[in-house]
Amino acid sequence: MRQAGSGSPALTVLWLQSGGCGGCSMSLLCADTTDFHGQLRDAGIDLLWHPSLSLASGHELTALLAEITSGRQRLDALCVEGSLLRGPNGSGRFHMLAGTGRAMIDWVRELAGIARHVVAVGSCAAWGGITAGGSNPTDACGLQYEDEHPGGLLGAAFRARGGLPVINVAGCPTHPNWVTDTLMALAADGFQAGDLDSLNRPRFYADQLVHHGCTRNEYYEFKASAEKPSDLGCMMEHMGCKGTQVHADCNTRLWNGEGSCTRGGYACIACTEPGFQEPGHPFHQTPKLAGIPIGLPTDMPKAWFVALASLSKSATPRRVRLNAVADHLVVPPVAKKTRLK
Ligand code: SF4
Ligand code: SF4
Repeated sequence: MRQAGSGSPALTVLWLQSGGCGGCSMSLLCADTTDFHGQLRDAGIDLLWHPSLSLASGHELTALLAEITSGRQRLDALCVEGSLLRGPNGSGRFHMLAGTGRAMIDWVRELAGIARHVVAVGSCAAWGGITAGGSNPTDACGLQYEDEHPGGLLGAAFRARGGLPVINVAGCPTHPNWVTDTLMALAADGFQAGDLDSLNRPRFYADQLVHHGCTRNEYYEFKASAEKPSDLGCMMEHMGCKGTQVHADCNTRLWNGEGSCTRGGYACIACTEPGFQEPGHPFHQTPKLAGIPIGLPTDMPKAWFVALASLSKSATPRRVRLNAVADHLVVPPVAKKTRLK
């Protein structure tokens, strides 16, 4: 393992952007550090080039690419942000890498074969994401998936030189620390196949559910539900929240140190999951069958949920019931002299 500060970086990183909004880069700038470049440097990470963060551009980038493809510059991690645009007719000409006369998909294919690791930054690069929604006129796809189907640009059998498939740091945008923690783990040679879940997302965040740590958990327990935007109650029953099914640690690894979608009053719309962009219903509404939400919590049989929900609703304390449909606390918890027994 190469050590930080030994002269040779532990991990050289090239970051390319294709069919996306750049939001994952914006998110990256909110990484939980006062010195972004210092954090990377301390971890032995050398960011060779990033389209927004690097001063180099034009011929300096083409010179770097030539160094990499000729083998004179080592490439450890290729990070791709945004989906890969295969159109029109498989030519990739919807996105040419400026100054090279060559389609971005061709650059990505070549560089993915050189890099020790390939990282999909965000749900567009992982699954196709928003860019692949609707009629998908640009024929956008992910690096190794199209929604939940293995394949994508590089094909299901692709393995980077380090032996791993594309590491899908999915999210829309992705949490900045999911990216920095992944890169730091790669720099420390601490990332193995077993550290990825069944969709090749890093398990350090994908083994959690958004529901874990949500401040609305008490409302969920009693099925005291929000009925309109800004209500304090649980948003699963009516407002489209999928936090009980979605793999991410958004409510325990907060965003910008203090927030999350559900803490901000927005349902979790499953942005780390393949195909989230087209749920088949409005994002802010819960689809139901006979009054029961179709998307039940992960690991919970339907009969259990129905039984638990009716029991919980019959036992909902007045405080929880009233607060659930208010935009501020209207009934505070009673102070009891119980010695907290
Ligand atoms: S709002 Fe969503 S994440 Fe929060 S408790 Fe309800 S179901 Fe869980
Ligand atoms: S709470 Fe859900 S929608 Fe929001 S960032 Fe996390 S996974 Fe994405």
